[in-house]
Amino acid sequence: MLSSPLSGVIRTTKHHLSKLESMGIVTVQDLLNFFPRALESTEPASRSAEITLGNKNTLDGTLQSFKKERAKSGKYFAKGVMVLDDGTSIDVIWFQIPYSLKSVNMPRRLFLIGKVERDYGKLKILNPEVHLETNVHVGGIRPIYPESPPITAKWLREKISGMLTLANEFKDPLPPEIIKAENLMDLPTAIKKIHFPGNKEEWFEAKRRLGFQEIFEIQVRVLQAKFNREQSHKNPYRVDFDPEQIKKDLATLPFTLTNQQKKSLLDVLEDFKKDRSMHRLLQGDVGSGKTIVAFLAGLHLVRQGFQVAILAPTEILAQQHYISLIEFVKRTLPEGLEHEDELLIGDCTEQCALLTGSVTAKNKKLTKERLRLGKIKFLIGTHAILTHDTVFNNLALAVIDEQHRFGVQQRALLAENHAHVLAMTATPIPRSLALTIYGDQDLSIIAEKPAGRKEIITRIVADSKTETLCYRFIEDQITKGRQIFWVCPLVEESEAIEAKNVLAEYVRINEQLFPNRRVEYLHGKMKPNEKDGIMQRFKNHEFDILVSTSVIEVGVDIPNSTVMVIENSERFGLAQLHQFRGRIGRNDYQSYCFLMVGDKKDKSKERLKAMEKSNDGFYLSEIDLKLRGSGEVYGLKQSGLPDLKCADFTDVEGMQKARDWATKVLEKDLTLENHPRLKRRIESETDYF
Ligand code: ADP
Ligand code: MG
Repeated sequence: MLSSPLSGVIRTTKHHLSKLESMGIVTVQDLLNFFPRALESTEPASRSAEITLGNKNTLDGTLQSFKKERAKSGKYFAKGVMVLDDGTSIDVIWFQIPYSLKSVNMPRRLFLIGKVERDYGKLKILNPEVHLETNVHVGGIRPIYPESPPITAKWLREKISGMLTLANEFKDPLPPEIIKAENLMDLPTAIKKIHFPGNKEEWFEAKRRLGFQEIFEIQVRVLQAKFNREQSHKNPYRVDFDPEQIKKDLATLPFTLTNQQKKSLLDVLEDFKKDRSMHRLLQGDVGSGKTIVAFLAGLHLVRQGFQVAILAPTEILAQQHYISLIEFVKRTLPEGLEHEDELLIGDCTEQCALLTGSVTAKNKKLTKERLRLGKIKFLIGTHAILTHDTVFNNLALAVIDEQHRFGVQQRALLAENHAHVLAMTATPIPRSLALTIYGDQDLSIIAEKPAGRKEIITRIVADSKTETLCYRFIEDQITKGRQIFWVCPLVEESEAIEAKNVLAEYVRINEQLFPNRRVEYLHGKMKPNEKDGIMQRFKNHEFDILVSTSVIEVGVDIPNSTVMVIENSERFGLAQLHQFRGRIGRNDYQSYCFLMVGDKKDKSKERLKAMEKSNDGFYLSEIDLKLRGSGEVYGLKQSGLPDLKCADFTDVEGMQKARDWATKVLEKDLTLENHPRLKRRIESETDYF
């Protein structure tokens, strides 16, 4: 029955059915799985003291009469009077006579649901719903569903309440011991109560149960993948480390590592000793110094004769890493490493190579040959290196910078030879979320910045006076020789619109605001090498202001830029604003971020205030999660995580519990042979990751 098509079960129109289908609702089960987004009280008020003015109320009284009237505009409307039990009379206005009143005799006791206001001393209810008796819409609490006409909440309540007993046919995929230990509702009860609870507590309990299941199933999926990989991926590159050597390496650096950098490095070095290949994610805010951790870990393997590959999402980032790497090996491996037939004493740089799309065919060939022979120890590159003719001699570590920029297949290609994988991301997200999205990897976190970094000063610019001051300030910065990022990110609508927007902004900035300064622009429709060219020229300080969409790559270093202007900042999540801001503040100069507010009425003040207050990405993403919910957390949409309906990502404890239970179940039954229902669900859904 659950899998029966709705067309055979409910009476409705073709129009309704096709709309439902476009919402992914085809069967009985689909409809029962379409949950309300909230509850609403329809507790009736039968005296004026029970009314809350300015809000939606349910009035229980007698409709005395109503009649059609004609407004000055010539339009018809219906006007009536309702009298409550205490004699209060309320004007009722409808734009159209409600269908349900057409064959009803007045006066008549009934319910009206709508916003009640006081108008010149008189109470008024505008365009209310009408119900002749208590039903699923009136009398207690009722579910509110997301509506897409002609599918209304009213329609959904009627159809769903009519088939609610079919919820008994849902088979619970959660093992009974979990239900018992966590004191959860069984699935049929939860489905019934999420639609029509007896009270609020029941609704929250139903939500808790369904949310637990969502997280639990994701955890089973990611952990199953993790355990499977660990079983098959024996570590072919098991190496111990010598703390003394590590200390010596650290001493060659121009700075001391932060404690969390040290801890992350140690996590990685410990992983190298284990039986299984490493699969670790290094999470750290922009500028927290992830690269050096990767280099040091790589150096350790290179000293043992292995190869290391570092993958960057763009050419320019790859080049930046390459320059840092050369500087790094000159310090740590000044003599280079011995290799069977050649000893490149004094030229360690020969053992590092850059492989990207723009390398000439001849050099590519040469590099690949030296790579195959093991003469190249450190390879830095872009996707371009991930071709099947790039053959390593003994690749032991693949570092993936900005991992979300790479596809699953690309990552898999590197993991193919069972090398250790160290992924890095500058998108800090709360730990509870990270455990869900990146649950198949181990996690290291760098939450602190190197000492001595200046905090970026952030200011909201929401009025024209402040705007003028801000432009004057920017002028002053440019006079001092600094550079400016100017992001005007339209919400993603389309790249073409974004491009147009950037051009308009560019004209405004170049011709009106800063006619005497050198301004350039950048947008997503440009070709990659065009973009890289602009970035390169900005880096060389060939112009002062770069106007762009959000395409400016994360992680690109333009140390001389000290100002970040973000247009329409109210449209963005904190994590994303923080990402933009992370492109400045990479030098000793004091840096500034201006949050321009386009929509002055927007209620995003609280979010933007958090930006003024804090420079900590983890803190900000935590706030974002609370204020906007998981759907908006940056990185989450891209993660391929399904739209979770009930899970509460702010419930860290609950998330951890789901993970612990998933571990427990899989430890005994990795293939889920003894949990056939769960197995079916895990295997039926598309692969999330
Ligand atoms: P991200 O984590 O954003 O990738 P990077 O690795 O690019 O950050 O580091 C940013 C800058 O900070 C680099 O110039 C790097 O050399 C420097 N750096 C890294 N660690 C430290 C440290 N412990 N002390 C001072 N500077 C550091
Ligand atoms: Mg980086």
